[in-house]
Amino acid sequence: MPRDASAGDLQRACRGADTGLDSLRPSDGMHRIEAAGRTGEAMEVEGGCYCKNIRYRAAGDALMKAVCFCRECQHVSGGGPVWIMAMPAKDFAYTQGEPNAFSRSDLEQPVTREFCPQCGTQLLSRVPSMSDAVILKVGTLDDPSIFDPQVAIYTGEMQSFHRLPDDVAAFEKTPG
Ligand SMILES: [Zn+2]
Ligand SMILES: [Zn+2]
Repeated sequence: MPRDASAGDLQRACRGADTGLDSLRPSDGMHRIEAAGRTGEAMEVEGGCYCKNIRYRAAGDALMKAVCFCRECQHVSGGGPVWIMAMPAKDFAYTQGEPNAFSRSDLEQPVTREFCPQCGTQLLSRVPSMSDAVILKVGTLDDPSIFDPQVAIYTGEMQSFHRLPDDVAAFEKTPG
């Protein structure tokens, strides 16, 4: 926080951490997701796991660039949120190695998480409600610096030690 921040700035900053999320209507969020992902930002990215056993390539427009604070992501990340970029499934392929996949049997519509059987790196998720997408973990990109989050999701499950990035649309669950 800059030293000359006004009281209004401080209020806004504090609200952003909790109740300020209510001011965003879901339709705004969807619009921002589409604006962030679908406006001619076609790209090709490569990535892989920590031990280099698994490699992948993805291409096309990013469908979503987000940071997810859900409790499940906290397990996977080691306590933090997970930074994710959804890419079209049709233009995604593993180019080396075979991942393992896991989905919980106690959930009705479980996410499938794919990971390296050797080093355990979580590479991506496949979500039933977004069957045309693979949701890549940004940390597995060869160049994570290309990533710029547009939305924060599942902020209702944030821990007190988590922080929202600046300039993202935030949702207690998802924009949908
Ligand atoms: Zn590995
Ligand atoms: Zn999550």
